[in-house]
Amino acid sequence: MSDNNKLTNNERNSFFVQRTVLVVDDEEINLDIMSTILMDNFHVLQARDGKEALDILLNGEQKIDLVLLDVFMPMDGREVLKVRQETPSIKRIPFIVCTSDKNIEEECFHLGVNDFIKKPYENPDIIVARIKRMIELYEDRSILKEVERDKLTNLYNIEFFKKYAKQFDANYPDVQKDMISISINRFRLINELYGRALGDKILLAIAEQLTKCISNCNGLVGKDEGSTFVIYCEHHDAYEILPIKLDEAVKRVASDVNISFRIGIYPNVDPSLNKEIVMGRAKTTADTLVNEFTKNIEVYNDERQAKTLHMEKLIDVFPQALAEEQFKLFFQPKYYIQGDKPVFASAEVLVRWISPKFGFVSPGDFISLFEENGLISKLDSYILEKAAKYMRLWKEKYGVDIPLSINLSRVDIYKPNLVEEIINYVDSNNVPREKYYIEITESAFVEDAKQVIPVIENIRNNGFKIEIDDFGSGYSSFGALADLPFDVLKIDMRFIRAIEKNPKAKGIIKMIINLAKLFNATTIAEGVETEEHYQFLKESGCDIIQGFYLSKPLSIDDFELLIQKEFGKNER
Ligand code: C2E
Ligand code: MG
Ligand code: MG
Repeated sequence: MSDNNKLTNNERNSFFVQRTVLVVDDEEINLDIMSTILMDNFHVLQARDGKEALDILLNGEQKIDLVLLDVFMPMDGREVLKVRQETPSIKRIPFIVCTSDKNIEEECFHLGVNDFIKKPYENPDIIVARIKRMIELYEDRSILKEVERDKLTNLYNIEFFKKYAKQFDANYPDVQKDMISISINRFRLINELYGRALGDKILLAIAEQLTKCISNCNGLVGKDEGSTFVIYCEHHDAYEILPIKLDEAVKRVASDVNISFRIGIYPNVDPSLNKEIVMGRAKTTADTLVNEFTKNIEVYNDERQAKTLHMEKLIDVFPQALAEEQFKLFFQPKYYIQGDKPVFASAEVLVRWISPKFGFVSPGDFISLFEENGLISKLDSYILEKAAKYMRLWKEKYGVDIPLSINLSRVDIYKPNLVEEIINYVDSNNVPREKYYIEITESAFVEDAKQVIPVIENIRNNGFKIEIDDFGSGYSSFGALADLPFDVLKIDMRFIRAIEKNPKAKGIIKMIINLAKLFNATTIAEGVETEEHYQFLKESGCDIIQGFYLSKPLSIDDFELLIQKEFGKNER
């Protein structure tokens, strides 16, 4: 702007063309003067008392950018200000009071007025400039609001959430605070099943509920990516109510949608810690609940955090580990037991990760982790191919086809070319397909029968053998079993483990063995550790056993020694 608050014509034209000012005064002369002052720069509306002014403001037809308000009129200007304070739709319109009475300024300030213009009116340019500045100020404020808020929920977006959280620390240095991360489980699925519009409604309901919860204590709410919310508030211990309240809020807008939450709490935040880190900790704490069905709140602890970080590191180094062949195939022999003594039958391939950085990493630590992010499919492709190559090698070296079983993850089922891939590995290594077994856990069938059965059926129809792993843990019904494509039932080792302790386990094992016979399937018991296990399984008619009693999983060198022992030293 030019000097002395004077507007150039240019400024007038570029800034004020569209803005509307409502002038409220019961004296015609004042109305006329003010309208004349403003008319070059603003679109001017007039009201002759408070009531008329409120009518114009409240009917909302015309967007009003500023109100110039007289005080003493039939409906007093102060009454108008009171209504404005209580009415959200007009609360954000700037009001300037025009008065000659200095004494009522203070009262008007308390009623939220933004500025004063002295009557009688003096320099018209100054009046215009003041109005301009006030409108600008208000517009800047609402632009800022747009920038700092999430569009859908009107909560702080994450950048501003962090900023205001820091401010909260500065304003209340002695108050202990908690960071809370709240996510909706499988929200993407809800969007896909019920549509985005309902998804948005649910997010809004949650945002409103969280705002309500926070209004009881000191704090702020923000919206992170996707369906994640964050709260930074005064510390307290009664968070159990939160999922209940959220559930009620969601039920109000989507009564038949079943939603569950995962809530991670990082209590008593050290204010010197970067807010990003604190939010990350709350979120990873929440994420530990991703596969939990009975629990929806977890409080951060260091041990769990260290585990999560370790897992993240494992994911990071996976591509390199695969490229460097750090994953080794181990082979656990299986033996027929119905003859006089156990006879070698085949082996299960079990992956081992020998990492130069982390040492020996157990499958228990990485299989489910890699299942969550899909990396397992790459690993399994590697194992599927390597296994076929070893079978070819042994055939060439020792003249025998050693049957191998390879574990398939439930995630592999969704690979579009899985069957072709397996055929390719096996055929290109001249491995007989019927010696190549695929193990898949029973629970995969139970969880997603529609998807899993056709794929496994296809594999089987192409000549491969199918083993249902951990059978008995997935609770397939007898009826469902009739629809499953399989050649072998592998009894869940938990039943073997329970032989000594729980008399019912023996009954269940016998039942599974008889069930398999009904379907012409072979039974394998894994996790066989003792003579007692072995004797019981033999008497019960189990065909094959696998377990520490006869052999641990063996490295390639040890397994080749076993092949030599079993099939003579006829290395070619
Ligand atoms: P699983 O397929 O049920 O494998 C049997 C597990 O029992 C193996 O654990 C094996 O080492 C262990 N085991 C064998 N005999 C005994 C015994 O007598 N007592 C006890 N206590 N345990 C015994 P491991 O190698 O840790 O593998 C765990 C699971 O990881 C496997 O369960 C399988 O589901 C998965 N897995 C292993 N290798 C692969 C793979 O290459 N791909 C996929 N997708 N999953 C794999
Ligand atoms: Mg297995
Ligand atoms: Mg098993």
